[in-house]
Amino acid sequence: MNRISVMKPWLGAAESEALAEVVASGWVAQGPRTAAFEGAFAEHQHVQHAVATSSCTTALQLALIVAGVRPGDDVVVPSFSFIATANAPTYLGARPVFADVEESTGNLSADTVAAVLTGKTTAIIAVDQGGMPLDLEPLRHLCDERGIALVEDAACAAGSTYRGNPVGGGADVSAWSFHPRKLLTTGEGGMLTTNNAEWAARARRLREHAMDVSAAERHGSTLAPQEHYGEVGYNFRMTDLQAAVGLVQLGKLDAMVQRRRELAQRYREAFGGMSGLRCARDPEHGTSNFQSFWVEVLPEFRMDREQLIEKLAADEISARRGIMAAHRQPAYAGHPGMVSPLPVTERLTDNTLILPLYHELAEHEQDRVISSVLTAGGG
Ligand SMILES: *Cc1c(COP(=O)(O)O)cnc(C)c1O
Repeated sequence: MNRISVMKPWLGAAESEALAEVVASGWVAQGPRTAAFEGAFAEHQHVQHAVATSSCTTALQLALIVAGVRPGDDVVVPSFSFIATANAPTYLGARPVFADVEESTGNLSADTVAAVLTGKTTAIIAVDQGGMPLDLEPLRHLCDERGIALVEDAACAAGSTYRGNPVGGGADVSAWSFHPRKLLTTGEGGMLTTNNAEWAARARRLREHAMDVSAAERHGSTLAPQEHYGEVGYNFRMTDLQAAVGLVQLGKLDAMVQRRRELAQRYREAFGGMSGLRCARDPEHGTSNFQSFWVEVLPEFRMDREQLIEKLAADEISARRGIMAAHRQPAYAGHPGMVSPLPVTERLTDNTLILPLYHELAEHEQDRVISSVLTAGGG
């Protein structure tokens, strides 16, 4: 019996050819393909500006800088997220303040954010967890009323929609990941998107040492203009090798989302009769790309979450514990950003697991996962 993994990127000959072309061109650093990928991504996501970065983590760091977050500020984040969400404000010397999430989506809500605001809050980072679109409008309202920047960590959410539009465009600035754990991958890579031209221009400089003339521009002219460094920047660049793969992957994104949504629907139908399992589902306000198909193991299930993961492993199926909680990690132990209890976060992180879901998962393989879960639950 072959092992079913929890996730597999969908890569093929077109990506290999695109890579070979970049190598043959002799320009492998950030250059024309990165610019083309930025343009195509902005168009796909219905935003005005896209700035490619080395990862979502670095895009989040830039997002907070251009949004004006300063050392000593408070930035509200969910603990219920990959740890990079909490790390971004920490890098700036700001304090990540943990807010709880809503049970149905695993995302921040205006109520959970309002409960932890302080006089020093200058930004919130709201996550589309596992691709589940966050409910933007109430957060937008809360932030606008108080002059707080709304940053969207859309790392998992390329292809998810909010009220009929791609997610991300309604925040002040959004960050995306192209790590292979997400749908669209460039190996490593990320993107910052915004409709604010000044913020985009500053992010574009900051990701390249804050140079006022990019390396690609200087290389393109025989008599290179003298560059200047207006502030202390970073090397957060994407390479053209990555961007070439990204362009191919972007062309496949809609098909990936469609396939994942079909497979998610098959899971939901199969588990619909089990009172012991709660499955991820679209919220009323949008559609998920199902980057992660999570289920919550309820007390009615015959096993607990750990036992179910072991049972699946015995059947040669890889599942994963659900989303982590940053406040439980040693890096944030005793952290001053724990200002209120996080009961929903703790329940979800303890009782959810992620089932295999990827583009090339065959129905007969998914059926193996389904029957393993059904047998485990006694359903
Ligand atoms: C994956 C992920 C990140 C980090 O993305 P990288 O591109 O690996 O830096 C950040 N936030 C969330 C919610 C993620 O899922």
